[in-house]
Amino acid sequence: MPFLEIDQVSKHYRVGASEPLKALDGVSFASDAGEWIAIMGPSGSGKTTLLNILGCLDQPTSGSVRIGSTDIAGLRRADLVRFRAETVGLIFQQYHLIPHLTAIENVMLAQYFHSMTDEAEARRALEHVGLADRARHLPSQLSGGEQQRVAIARALVNDPKIILADEPTGNLDAANQQIVLDLLSGLHAQGRTILLVTHDERVGRCADRRINLDYGRIVETVVFTAEENEDFDEILEELWMRRESAMHHESSHFTEVQRQRLFATMSRIGLLRHIGKEVRFTDQGEERARSVIRRHRLAERLFMDVLFIRDDAAVESNACTFEHILSPEVTDRICTFLGHPKTCPHGSPIPPGECCGNGARGHVAMNPNGEILP
Ligand code: ADP
Ligand code: MG
Repeated sequence: MPFLEIDQVSKHYRVGASEPLKALDGVSFASDAGEWIAIMGPSGSGKTTLLNILGCLDQPTSGSVRIGSTDIAGLRRADLVRFRAETVGLIFQQYHLIPHLTAIENVMLAQYFHSMTDEAEARRALEHVGLADRARHLPSQLSGGEQQRVAIARALVNDPKIILADEPTGNLDAANQQIVLDLLSGLHAQGRTILLVTHDERVGRCADRRINLDYGRIVETVVFTAEENEDFDEILEELWMRRESAMHHESSHFTEVQRQRLFATMSRIGLLRHIGKEVRFTDQGEERARSVIRRHRLAERLFMDVLFIRDDAAVESNACTFEHILSPEVTDRICTFLGHPKTCPHGSPIPPGECCGNGARGHVAMNPNGEILP
């Protein structure tokens, strides 16, 4: 079960007699414990509204929010305050420190739900953000970067499982931005779940995953780098070849730990599924695997039959590059140019494409080994 799950969450504001403004409009997503998610999108897209709902500062008009085993909508006001203090650490763009309290008093303020405040614990939190020597300073005696670090210490003092940060680097110069990002990276490495609102691409890239909001809706949930997508393709090829026949099976260069991690990510984004201990393709994963294998094997044919490259290693490494860059149109053109070959130079079947006539996609007959039947 994911650590955090929000389902069909909407927040509507009624302004005057006009149509309600939909700050959030049916947003759903889940997050595993320890994930770092960046919530991105233009100004007014609902990022702060979403974060405030997750942080129990605001309630949705409809939909459900679960963190751990707690359904937030079901909590009464007093329980909500306690739940927030114990589970969630909040960091804001504007720091929100109390001006007439010192740094350490600001941190201790977050301990108010303890039966008593604990100065040593607050001091440790300030040490963690590198501000032990600023404990007795007032916010006005601190730089912006230092104030934000006090705010981070305050968010950490109750040892929250989840950190919610709304544009935490928005008011900082590059050097302080980096300090704050390094602190967040450290918290991520400790296994904390982080949801960070930002409209800064560079900040967004630090996260494991990005969620893009536009007009209160999720427009695109997952953005992976080219390298990550190549890793996914490699795993898909490996599984395809394993299913095809043990003979042609070449193991990829991943370690077992990397492979398990990739399996987990690829399951989450719907490319693979686990059946007991076994990993299988989903329909989407199978389609993508088939397409990578097709590009790879057509590229091999191209290099050997047309360009007369005979060195196996050179063919393989070129094919590995080409499989990632060929568009569907170019792939079909190469296939047509080569006369719709049925096998790669080593005899493994090339999955047919749209261009191959009757063997149209989706109507391919396979034997139990996954070999394509003529
Ligand atoms: P973001 O953080 O992405 O800039 P917000 O979540 O703050 O966006 O706001 C989303 C939309 O909801 C905006 O159009 C904003 O004007 C509107 N909004 C936010 N809070 C209120 C409120 N209390 N009353 C009316 N409209 C609001
Ligand atoms: Mg905002």
